[in-house]
Amino acid sequence: ALDIGHDLGTAILNVRAFEREHRLVKELQALDQYKGQLIATVAHELKNPLTSIVGYLEMLEGEDVEGAVKQALSAMDRGARRMVRVIDDLLLLSKVGDPSNPVIPRPVDLASVAADVVDLTSVAAQKRDITVLVESPTYPVLASGDPDELDRVLSNLVSNAVKYSEPGRTVTVCLARDGEEVVVECRDEGFGISPEDQEKLFTEFFRSTNPVAVAQPGTGLGLAIVARIVERHGGRIELDSELGRGSTFRVRLPGAQPAA
Ligand code: ADP
Repeated sequence: ALDIGHDLGTAILNVRAFEREHRLVKELQALDQYKGQLIATVAHELKNPLTSIVGYLEMLEGEDVEGAVKQALSAMDRGARRMVRVIDDLLLLSKVGDPSNPVIPRPVDLASVAADVVDLTSVAAQKRDITVLVESPTYPVLASGDPDELDRVLSNLVSNAVKYSEPGRTVTVCLARDGEEVVVECRDEGFGISPEDQEKLFTEFFRSTNPVAVAQPGTGLGLAIVARIVERHGGRIELDSELGRGSTFRVRLPGAQPAA
């Protein structure tokens, strides 16, 4: 016999559980948004006094000082510049994580983004004796997105590839179309990333435990920024990496049609 009372009871319980879960998701989203706002506010508040500290340090650069004072000034300058990098990255992270500030997509020519990034990273690459190549097809590779943000994605990936490779190695940026999507690959022959590190790679402030990698300067925010930008573009990011052999970061983004 049908037990309508029992079925109805189960259905009501299911609806209540669903409602509870829905409420929890909403609360978590609100908390996440609050966290983002808090970080942005703190970063803004720190930025102004820091700008004045950096300005005064620059002013003192030409002064005729020696010994301990000179050393102290140089240490303060390094520290202040590092703080500026962290704060700028935090501000960008909160900007690209803000759902009320979505991407306004337009066609972005990835070959010109790649050329720009190679140009931008050439000094750092030369310093480490790394060759950066771009392989792009004869057809245009157009992504649908924000040009500055996509520039940032590629420059973070390429500068990491340069930082985390031994001198003499090559970094290759490879562009292609794949159906409705476009693919940007950044391949290196560098240190590689262990499976344990790969799991935490895109979280804020994560830096590898690999001693050769951690010797390089960084904030641990670069890949978190990359992940958020790719996500808000409706794309995804894949990683193939082996310790001691190198890494390939592959970003898939929605493609765009050339403007008529
Ligand atoms: P940062 O470079 O400022 O430390 P990122 O978020 O860009 O921060 O990267 C996090 C960590 O991931 C780095 O500290 C490094 O250990 C590792 N990593 C990133 N890219 C590579 C790469 N191409 N090869 C090896 N390790 C990498």
